[in-house]
This record gives sequence, structure tokens and C-alpha cells, in this order.
Amino acid sequence: MNTFDEIFSKIKQYPTIILHRHTNPDPDAIGSQAALAKSLRLQFPDKKILCTGENDVGDLDWINTMDEVKDEDYQGALVITTDTANTPRISDQRYRLGDYLIKIDHHPDVDPYADMSYVDSKAAAACEIIADFIEAEGLPLTQEIALALYAGIVGDTGRFMYDATSAHTFEVVSRLMETGIDISQIARNESEVTFQQAKLQSLALEKMQLDESGLVAIAVISQADLKALGVTQPQASVTVSTPGRIKGILTWLVIVEKEDGTYRVHYRSKGPHINKLAEAHDGGGHELASGATAHDQVEIDQIFQELVEVTKKYKEDHE
Ligand code: AMP
Repeated sequence: MNTFDEIFSKIKQYPTIILHRHTNPDPDAIGSQAALAKSLRLQFPDKKILCTGENDVGDLDWINTMDEVKDEDYQGALVITTDTANTPRISDQRYRLGDYLIKIDHHPDVDPYADMSYVDSKAAAACEIIADFIEAEGLPLTQEIALALYAGIVGDTGRFMYDATSAHTFEVVSRLMETGIDISQIARNESEVTFQQAKLQSLALEKMQLDESGLVAIAVISQADLKALGVTQPQASVTVSTPGRIKGILTWLVIVEKEDGTYRVHYRSKGPHINKLAEAHDGGGHELASGATAHDQVEIDQIFQELVEVTKKYKEDHE
């Protein structure tokens, strides 16, 4: 792993810097990319600093929107990815066209794909690392930048609820709040759902099933469900945290059918580590929050069974 200073000296060398983040972006992906780009633009007005990734960032355009990036822009450019553990998840695969690649992330380093990297899997969010980078290198922190960073931290900590939230997270947040950001408005932007999404949350609960022990839950949302309610597949992610609010549930899956008939699998846990399970199904992520893909109902059944086994073992070991 490299130091902030080493990364910053690379940044200083390049006239063009292109920032990438992961596909199906969440506030931490968009926020970490946006904050680094905006801060570097202020510090280096003569550099060309661009953000790329799929253009449709869903309901996250209040944090940032993408720039138009041409293939030629990559010539002699420095490429930085944030919040992206492995290469298939990098949004906009042109990241390979650059001259030098830096990875800044907080997922376990399963795929050390870059020329230089800063990976801290203890950090609550990639935005926490970017905030520390800005502080360490004396880069500008405006209200707009703080908003992006706070949005990412709120998103990835589930509003300061998940285990990775640390005393340091609150130190960072304190710095961000000094800029005068409206934390209630940011929290509302992230937690408000449309009426249709609320109906989908209720449907997910109706469809939820438990294993024999009552510790493991699964809810599968089909394309027909989404179409009936007029909710898109990325918008369906609002249902993911719902089962976790139920007492007694230790691990759960929310599975959403995609337009191509495969399924996006959301793994969540309050204790057992589930990232290895996700890795076995074309996915990955954090110990307590991971994502993967299932190709059919048979694979969904297998995924559920694997989660039941891991949860049972965890329960035995912790009794
Ligand atoms: P999600 O269930 O989509 O909210 O994802 C939970 C966590 O797992 C996030 O940190 C994602 O970045 C990560 N993740 C989701 N899908 C994948 C995947 N296919 N491969 C690697 N990491 C993933």
C-alpha cells in the first residue's frame, strides 16, 4: 500500500486526471469520486479533471453528475478509481486507456489491480479516506465537497449504525460539519422514498421468508413486481435494509430480478461474514454487506442454503 504523499505526488505530475467509481453507484461511490475531483479542481485549476461512469446515476444527481470524457482524454492521463474493489466493477472500462492507475478504496483488497493504491478496509466509507486525504494534503474543503463526503459516509454507515463506524468517522464528520452543510437535508435526500418505493418495501416484507431457525431471511422481487409498481431495479435497493430492522434476523438476502432475467443479490449480516459467500457468486463486498449475481432460481436456492449454513455455524460458535 502507498502513502497519501506518494499518491499526491503522482497527482501533481499529471495534467489530466480521470476519476472512475463502481457501477450501480451508491452515495459513497459518487461522493468519493465527486469530492476528490472537486477538491483537485480547486487546487489545480489548470489541470483537466473529469468524472466518468454510467451517466444515469439515478437519484444521486444531487451529489454529482458525470462529465463527458472522450477516448483521447485518456492519453497520458492519470486514472483514479474510488470505492471499487475489482476491475469488472469499475464503471467505464476505458480506465485501462490511461497512463497510470491509482486505487483508493475501503473494501477488502481482493483484486490489487492498480499501479498505486491506498486501501483501508477498516474505513467506514471511501469518503472517509478521501476526507483524510484532503486534510492530510491541505486540499480545499468547501461546503459542496463536504456535502458529497458526508453523503457517502451517511450512506455506507447506514446513518452511523454499522460496525465500521468509528470514533475517527465522527472526527471526520465534525470537520465536514464545520463547513456548514445541512445534515438533515442530506439525510432526507438519502432516506426519502417515492410512494411506489414504499409500496415495494411493503411487498418485500410480504414476500419475505425465513429459514427454520428464523435467523435468515430472503425476499425475492421479480421484474413483474417492479413493473407493476413502476419502480426500476436500482430504485429497488431501498428494500435492502428493511429485513434487518426485524428482531431476531441475523442475516438476509434481498434479491431483485434484472431485465435480462438474472438476479442482483444483496447480502446483509449483523454478525456472520458474508463476503466470501458473495465472492463465490460473481460478487464481493464487505464482511457484513456484499453483492452478487444469481443466474436462476437454482442458484438462488443454493445462495440461501449457503447463508443458512454460515449463520448456523456462527450461532453455534457464539453461544
Ligand atoms: P449492495 O448490496 O449492492 O448495496 O452492495 C453491498 C456492498 O457490496 C457494496 O460495498 C458494494 O460495493 C459491494 N458489491 C456489490 N456487488 C458487488 C459485486 N458484484 N462485486 C463486488 N462487490 C460488490
